[in-house]
Amino acid sequence: MEAQLLKDYLASHHIQTVIQGEYLSGAAGELPALQFPVLWVLEDEDLERGKELIGYFFQNDKAAIPWVCPACGEHNEGQFHICWNCAKMK
Ligand SMILES: [Zn+2]
Repeated sequence: MEAQLLKDYLASHHIQTVIQGEYLSGAAGELPALQFPVLWVLEDEDLERGKELIGYFFQNDKAAIPWVCPACGEHNEGQFHICWNCAKMK
């Protein structure tokens, strides 16, 4: 469930992933560290940005408002503190 949300989230940022280990969902509770499936990033070059996006995903600030990057004009989600397109600070 959470992995699917993350997969969709990353896909919206042009990072393609596949979900592995869904079979583990039946064992949830037994192995807390493994109760969520693993998300594999298909392109090596997307890995670092993927990690960063996941970090933002889990510290999602509900009160954050969307903003427009002053450097490139890209629209960014409120929880991001740097532009996802050009990496400029808010
Ligand atoms: Zn930008």
